[in-house]
Amino acid sequence: MNPSAIRDVVIVGGGTAGWMAAAGLARVFGELIRITLVESEEIGTVGVGEATIPQIQLYNRLLGIDEDAFVKATNGSFKLGIVFNDWGAIGDRYIHAFGEPGVPLGGLPFHHYWLRDRLARGERGRPDLWDYSLNAEAAFAGRFARTPQSGFGPLGEMPYAFHFDAHLYARFLRAYAERLGVRRVEGKVVDVTPGEPDGRVVSIRLERGEVVEGELFVDCSGFRGLLIEGALKTGYEDWSEYLPADRAVAVPCASVEPLTPYTQASADAAGWRWRIPLQHRTGNGYVFCSRFISEDEATAVLLSRLDGEALADPRPLRFLTGKRRRIWNKNVVSLGLASGFMEPLESTSIHLVQSCLDKLIQYFPDKGFADAPRDRFNAEADAEYVAIRDFLVLHYTATTRDDTPFWRHCKDALPRTETLKARIDLWRTGGRLPVDERDLFKPNSWLQVLVGQGIEAEGCSPLAGRIEDAKLSAWLGDVRRLVAQTRDRLPGHADFIARTCSSA
Ligand code: FAD
Repeated sequence: MNPSAIRDVVIVGGGTAGWMAAAGLARVFGELIRITLVESEEIGTVGVGEATIPQIQLYNRLLGIDEDAFVKATNGSFKLGIVFNDWGAIGDRYIHAFGEPGVPLGGLPFHHYWLRDRLARGERGRPDLWDYSLNAEAAFAGRFARTPQSGFGPLGEMPYAFHFDAHLYARFLRAYAERLGVRRVEGKVVDVTPGEPDGRVVSIRLERGEVVEGELFVDCSGFRGLLIEGALKTGYEDWSEYLPADRAVAVPCASVEPLTPYTQASADAAGWRWRIPLQHRTGNGYVFCSRFISEDEATAVLLSRLDGEALADPRPLRFLTGKRRRIWNKNVVSLGLASGFMEPLESTSIHLVQSCLDKLIQYFPDKGFADAPRDRFNAEADAEYVAIRDFLVLHYTATTRDDTPFWRHCKDALPRTETLKARIDLWRTGGRLPVDERDLFKPNSWLQVLVGQGIEAEGCSPLAGRIEDAKLSAWLGDVRRLVAQTRDRLPGHADFIARTCSSA
């Protein structure tokens, strides 16, 4: 046994972040570490994170869980993308579908051929990009299937994520983690004890007097940030200048048919409303900026737009967009809402739990807590947060909406970073979509939001000129037909669930 190896890991918080951390660390480290998770039923969890992105499959694979069992246990459904209503302009509708549209040809991304054809025909306005996307076509047709082993021929894969009930997800992970030996302690943390040599946390004290000691602490205590902020005073970068939404109201309602395989994000007067279909209910919320609408008004709007009968009282939530100055400080690593929050527009929060957990595993410290791994962890996490922020800001700023003070503020006053401006210029001047390995959102995601929100490219790669006009048109027609035929062979989303993972 390495004498400087960390043995005792304490996780504070049993929401999605806490149980994801417990399950992941227990799976990877096994007997090498002892994990204690402290949570307070009285305080409860935020319980609203219910839409994910396809990267969650990597986490599921890490745990080795059976996907059907997981969907069944969480009343889950499948997600092929996010449909955006009324963002670029009122009446607009587009999807940020997971998966590439079209088929690559000669090493050049498909969108350059699509752009060349569109430019040659002098087309502006309503784009048909999504006729080439299997994810988009399947989503709008309410169909779903997993990609067969051989793929969907030249169309490749149909990536997907999940919608799930957040409380059931935490319960599912808890059962998994406890099977691997994680010790759960019920109780409210009331005190945090600092120690030598640098004021790092040595123990936490619960309301009933019990003291829990540890070497590494994982702060998953939600917005409170009990250890990272309450004890270590790490500081918070306020990003509300970029992402002004600061509140949400959430309410579940009865399900309606069809069970759509996508999340919906509908722009509204002072923010946007989410719709997340689960097997047993639909999750709804209005994310808004309190400078432009009151909580009562936002609640009334949300209730008036529900598909079915409300199943609970509307629940208000407050937040400040931004992130901790250091997500890992001393011997405390914050995960989930304790580390920051960028609002749920692209369902990135659960992913950030997963990716920071992944980094923690990669840079796992020993008792010496050297600076280098911590600094590297923080630099990587910061870069990921900032890149996601740029992508979210694009949704708010690439708009022609000026119908409310909120949208005028977004269009005219939200700052665009230099990197965001450069991306937009690269797109506009030649359809270029830079690839940065570290970015969560790849060119395909930028493509769909840029096109969907009406930012036209004035050119495309000269390499797209290698194919004659007539041949290009015929080839594009073939791709469209292939997408439509493949879509028509897929089962309905609800039928797929009924056959494989129904919780009924
Ligand atoms: P919480 O769920 O708040 O858990 C905190 C835990 O700490 C609880 O167990 C609590 O009991 C415990 N705790 C706190 N204080 C104490 C104490 N003193 N003693 C003991 N225990 C304590 N993410 C997505 O990926 N997709 C989405 O669609 C999405 N939608 C969202 C919508 C909204 C409006 C909001 C606000 C967030 C959304 N998120 C979404 C984010 C997502 O909800 C969170 O990332 C995720 O739930 C993780 O939360 P958490 O575990 O960090 O915090």
